Amino acid sequence: MSTTDTSALPDYAPVPRSALGPALNEQGYYVSRVERNLYWITDGTYQSAFLTTSDGVVLLDAPPTIGHNIQRAVDEIASANGVSNKVTHLIYSHHHADHAGASSLFDKNVTRIGHEETRRLLLRDDDPARPPNEETFQDHRTLEIGGERIDLAWHGANHSPDNIIIHLPDHNTLMLIDIVNPGWAPVYVSNLTEDIPGYIEAPANALAYSWKHFIGGHLGRLGTRDDVTLHQQYMADISESSRKAIDTVDPTRYFVKYGENMWAAVKGYLDEVTAVAAAPVIEKYTGVLAAADVFTESTTFWVMESIRLDLGYGSQVHP
Ligand SMILES: [Zn+2]
Repeated sequence: MSTTDTSALPDYAPVPRSALGPALNEQGYYVSRVERNLYWITDGTYQSAFLTTSDGVVLLDAPPTIGHNIQRAVDEIASANGVSNKVTHLIYSHHHADHAGASSLFDKNVTRIGHEETRRLLLRDDDPARPPNEETFQDHRTLEIGGERIDLAWHGANHSPDNIIIHLPDHNTLMLIDIVNPGWAPVYVSNLTEDIPGYIEAPANALAYSWKHFIGGHLGRLGTRDDVTLHQQYMADISESSRKAIDTVDPTRYFVKYGENMWAAVKGYLDEVTAVAAAPVIEKYTGVLAAADVFTESTTFWVMESIRLDLGYGSQVHP
């Protein structure tokens, strides 16, 4: 098979138009106003945002895929509005390289702000692309930069141990990365989540704030409260279907077939639980959330394992 032969690759359901965002420019980015002096940037896969203030620009995340286009987008907006294009502050949503890996492009004088766990993890990871944030907080911190208010809050581990909510109450906006991908299903294992109970709870924490615009960090468009509610329902459906599958799938034949190869039996059984749990969810959300048919099984596997391991569901003590 040649490297350009696609005939053996699987087909998937079409992406609903509602999942897609605006077209990118020649340099491969799109920048636009969210509200007032808050702007967002996308390269179609990743998102970042920035506030132009009288004290300089406050950048919210620096994904490496957007990279040098971050400063180009800032320059474009700053020159159109006659304001400073100097990035003076960078807020980290969490420590992951795919959202922070362009941090070192910004000047050594930039003030980096994030959760104390973000600093600890960045010191551990020791990646020159992601200088650790000098400024930290534990649960809540309100920033006033150039007269603009930014509320930072940590509600516990979810996608990562250090993932925070960035609320801009005067811009009707909430930024929460790697939880809800507006219009799309989560990618592998619930958006590569470390703490599933925290991940499932996160949309309710977000919805408890007052906001209209949602910055989720991924894909090509902003989100709404309805996007967050739809994602919440999708995850609830996966949880409910997983419990049913745990209750109904019988593992006996896998242990009969594989004998002393315990891991082969476990794999056969848990793969069947996952497939049985995912099937009705894939059917319900195909055409509603893009790539529901691509990643729902992977997400369901991880949710089902959390139901077994975190919640103890279906677990029995030997008599
Ligand atoms: Zn992440």
